Amino acid sequence: MKPMRRDLLGRLQRIFLLASICLLLLIGLLAAQAADLPWASGASLRGLLPAKPLPPSIVLISGHAGNDTGAICSDSAGNILLTEADVNASVARQAADILRLAGKDVMIFDEFDDRLDGLVADVMVSLHADSCVEYSGYKAAHRADNPTGADGRLLACMNERYAQATGLAYHPNTITHDMTDYHAFRRIDPSTPGLILEMGFLGGDQTLLTDGSEQVAQGVADGIECFLAASADDTSTPTP
Ligand SMILES: [Zn+2]
Repeated sequence: MKPMRRDLLGRLQRIFLLASICLLLLIGLLAAQAADLPWASGASLRGLLPAKPLPPSIVLISGHAGNDTGAICSDSAGNILLTEADVNASVARQAADILRLAGKDVMIFDEFDDRLDGLVADVMVSLHADSCVEYSGYKAAHRADNPTGADGRLLACMNERYAQATGLAYHPNTITHDMTDYHAFRRIDPSTPGLILEMGFLGGDQTLLTDGSEQVAQGVADGIECFLAASADDTSTPTP
């Protein structure tokens, strides 16, 4: 072999070796990241990349879940035909799906979920339905003190959008102390906007709450989206 060709061959071999080592290192790093090894996902790597903004975090409480049935409808023999907890769970699931499709980070909590203590989220909405009587209408309430004013904006959005999506009228005469003094309001962080929504009556609004639960879930999602959009506008406005 001529010396020049041998030289070229040697150089090619070195390049190939170096490329192989780089490739092996890269595969190792990716595998370590996939396995969630701390050194691979640590700040040293993340710090080099610009932080991605977190999607808005939404907590839906599936009313009475993990605790009791809530209101019930039963026949004359005492057989339970419909429970509030089932209605709430179905709407919570569907509303979460709609919001997740829109890029939101949604968690569904039980009624007395441990994670409520000191919860910091962009919004928390607890979903309930009213008793099995022949009334119709929804109602919503926030905590009595409303420290940041955000609760009021959330309530205004929900009132507008929920009524629009469901066609239900507001039923203000049955807002109870249970609603404004709702246990979750005392547990979540004061900075987390919170609302309890009674989506309708298991009696008078039964068809909407069961067969039309998609529409109900859309109303819940619309109310939350309206509030988050307004909050985003607030924070993007530069302060003088
Ligand atoms: Zn309830």
